[in-house]
Amino acid sequence: FRLSRSVRDADAPKGTTLSETLPETTFADLGVPAALVSALAADGKTLAFPIQVDTLPDTLGGRDVLGRGKTGSGKTLAFSIPMAARLGGKLAGGKRRPGRPLGLVLAPTRELATQISAVLTPLAAAYGLNTTTIFGGVNQTRQVTALKAGVDIVVACPGRLEDLMKQGFVNLDAVEITVLDEADHMADLGFLPVVTRILDKTPSNGQRLLFSATLDNGVDKLVKRFLHNEVLHSVDEAT
Ligand code: ADP
Ligand code: MG
Repeated sequence: FRLSRSVRDADAPKGTTLSETLPETTFADLGVPAALVSALAADGKTLAFPIQVDTLPDTLGGRDVLGRGKTGSGKTLAFSIPMAARLGGKLAGGKRRPGRPLGLVLAPTRELATQISAVLTPLAAAYGLNTTTIFGGVNQTRQVTALKAGVDIVVACPGRLEDLMKQGFVNLDAVEITVLDEADHMADLGFLPVVTRILDKTPSNGQRLLFSATLDNGVDKLVKRFLHNEVLHSVDEAT
């Protein structure tokens, strides 16, 4: 990993992080596009949380990022903002292709996928991009109908996504940015083999962001296999 923290900390008082020295960093300060700054402000969010301050310059710059941060630190916006920013404008004048998303988020549970979609959908909508949520335990018909109608961003649990890929309803060839949220939780649930098969179907030159509290249980292997020249951001030194 390249440890950006150590470089940035050169200017900060000893024992503090950059984000702690800049408590009032706005999303606009971080280079978040105006359309997203407006969408965030409409939701009452103007100041970035520390993990967002630390990661947004790299994620918006197109780099692969490995993020380690405790629950509640604000990881969902940390990856939803760069995903919407990167894909925004892509469709201007273009045509949405059925079942061929440009962005993919993998999450371990239906609840988490639903929460992520709730955050990502308004940001994507600021650019006219749509999102579809894919999870198991329910009939697949509605999900298949949404995929056929044309999707820009898919937020998915791995098992159902792989099912739909095998049936030909989803193709990941056009994915430009992939997020793996709660990779440690995925490992605990035994999802790393299916996650690996899914990621193998995304273009290797795309941008990849991986969030995990630990690198145990094979998450380290996933990092080695799928992140390229990544930047490590850790805002969870206490645990
Ligand atoms: P994590 O995924 O790291 O556990 P979440 O992304 O779920 O954390 O965020 C935790 C809570 O913090 C959510 O209620 C979210 O709306 C809120 N939040 C995140 N970033 C900001 C921000 N910049 N300003 C205000 N609230 C925020
Ligand atoms: Mg989260």
